[in-house]
Amino acid sequence: MIGLEVHAQLTSLKSKLFCSCSADYRRLPPNTSVCPVCLGLPGSLPRLNGRALEEVLKIALALHSDPAHETVFYRKHYFYPDMAKNFQISQYDRGGGVTVAKGGWLDLTLGQFVKRVKIRRVQLEEDVAKIVYPSSLLSSEYVMVDYNRAGVALCEMVTEPDLSSPREARLFIEKYASILDHLGVTDTSLEGSLRVDANISIDGGERVELKNINSPKDVEKALNYEVQRQIMIVERGGKIEMQTRHWDELNRVTVAPRFKEEEEDYRYFPESDLPPIRIEQDFVESLRAALPELPDQRAERFVRQYGLTPYQAGVLVSQKRLADFFEDRLGVA
Ligand code: ADP
Ligand code: MG
Ligand code: ZN
Repeated sequence: MIGLEVHAQLTSLKSKLFCSCSADYRRLPPNTSVCPVCLGLPGSLPRLNGRALEEVLKIALALHSDPAHETVFYRKHYFYPDMAKNFQISQYDRGGGVTVAKGGWLDLTLGQFVKRVKIRRVQLEEDVAKIVYPSSLLSSEYVMVDYNRAGVALCEMVTEPDLSSPREARLFIEKYASILDHLGVTDTSLEGSLRVDANISIDGGERVELKNINSPKDVEKALNYEVQRQIMIVERGGKIEMQTRHWDELNRVTVAPRFKEEEEDYRYFPESDLPPIRIEQDFVESLRAALPELPDQRAERFVRQYGLTPYQAGVLVSQKRLADFFEDRLGVA
């Protein structure tokens, strides 16, 4: 059983989620796009970037997810240098928390079959600073922190554990990436714009969470490695512990954190510096009416208009750039 948590940066936005610093951190020297809000200095107050809510609602609608009438932000506490406030402003779907949207699905084409993968929730949260390792995750003797990324708007989308193989997980992320590209909310070709936590369990055992994987291909590789690791443990009579592991891109293995991470105790509580946000039905309907053509519709059109097979159309729309190129060449785009 595999369930994914996919974080997409809303790269179409000019500013961060709760301040007016430039979100275009990739081109800026480290620690230059920062202010008291995104550095978490005492007394600073966040203010919601309304466009971020709009973008995340578009994603929710594209996934047939149900937007809330009113949504609230929560503080997720943890102590780590990538978050200067020692909490991340996020959302929570328990204890009275309501995320931007819940439910929904994404249809995956697997050969002759269509598999419907259920979505658990879609939410807004702030990105954290970038920890820069001078060499690999395990061999680095120190790390550097770049706060330019702290506070950049992220959409977190969580699936139900409906995926049944590492390959399905990769296809799911590729399809989701194509939806984001078609919506124009995320340029998924940018390094680090799409980051995945992949949860996996075998034979009813405990689940292991693989954190922060940067590409669909690496998600497949990390999960393949992790399946083998879990099978080996079970075959030797061992038990899988509930655990968070990291994908080491360089050495292509999943590794346990160097220190035993404590039972996650985020002490979620409402972010009292931000009011509840009411989402008007009219606003949602205007966004729904303005949604662009999405990959599934585009594939259908390709079959109708150009006489392609569903398979060919599916391959083309799996990447917006590929589908655009195809239509460009035909001189009709
Ligand atoms: P939360 O983190 O909000 O408590 P869960 O822990 O239930 O939610 O799930 C987080 C992620 O783990 C989701 O993507 C979900 O699909 C996935 N997941 C839940 N249970 C399992 C399981 N037994 N095996 C694999 N993935 C799972
Ligand atoms: Mg998460
Ligand atoms: Zn700022």
